[in-house]
Amino acid sequence: MIRTVTLFALGLAATMLAVPARALQVVATLPSLATLAREVAGPHATVECLLSPRQDPHYADARPNLILSLNRADLLVVNGLELEVGWLPGLVRQARNPKIQTGTPGYFDASLHVLRLAVPGRVDRAMGDIHPGGNPHFHWDPRAAALVAVALGKSLGALDPAHAADYTKNAAVMSARFKALAHEWTQKFAALPEAERKLVVYHDSLVYLVDWLGLKQVITVEPRPGIPPDPGHLAKVVGTVRTTGAKALAQEEYYPRGASDQVAKLTGLRMAIVPGGANFGSGQRFDDYVRGLAKTLYEALHGAP
Ligand SMILES: [Zn+2]
Repeated sequence: MIRTVTLFALGLAATMLAVPARALQVVATLPSLATLAREVAGPHATVECLLSPRQDPHYADARPNLILSLNRADLLVVNGLELEVGWLPGLVRQARNPKIQTGTPGYFDASLHVLRLAVPGRVDRAMGDIHPGGNPHFHWDPRAAALVAVALGKSLGALDPAHAADYTKNAAVMSARFKALAHEWTQKFAALPEAERKLVVYHDSLVYLVDWLGLKQVITVEPRPGIPPDPGHLAKVVGTVRTTGAKALAQEEYYPRGASDQVAKLTGLRMAIVPGGANFGSGQRFDDYVRGLAKTLYEALHGAP
């Protein structure tokens, strides 16, 4: 009897070894977050991304094929601060996956782990402002990414305790790298003269970058986040550029160029067109994305070397 039980147990163990545990399925909304998740998870998870860097994350099309990804997910990584509020909740509802509902261990809100900037005193979404809970565009700040990586490591470890040590280690390595990168570029921008640190942005999405690099955002081309400029506001932008001597205008590649080009033509501002996120599809690492971004801004402010 004892022998039978032992043989049975051995057989079972062999079967379990032969079938590798199912890798975690992670789905992230933004490419930059997906890139972070991929590196923290290493070989223990497959990571999918719902949006491309060329899509405006405020108004993404809720394509039905995304529902299937969400249906299979063990972990959903979102930016939060209402950035995805216009399209994600409907998809999550339709995916009918209890594991990724708000408040469960499978729902990761990155904004809960960063130091929030530009939190308004009152909610004014009704007036057209699409940043009611604070500015949600922290995904290009390596200091924020360091915090998100560490928190992601903890969440992945809770879902998959067998690999918790790997997640923690990967996150620690990334965090150290991102902090070093942040410091390196803070120093570079600090060496620029005051006049070369002023910029205009199209959408109010660079506040974390401006804070990190010690820059000054003099005005936005959109009068309020999500509201396109009218001629009156454009005249104000041109006037502000002339009084402040701002050198560059930065905007994500998915925003319209017409108004910005007009301002640049009238004032001589240099345009800095930046990708809306890391190129997750090509395997780009977060560091390389941010380095490219910092370089583009630096050259626009200072002039090409
Ligand atoms: Zn925004």
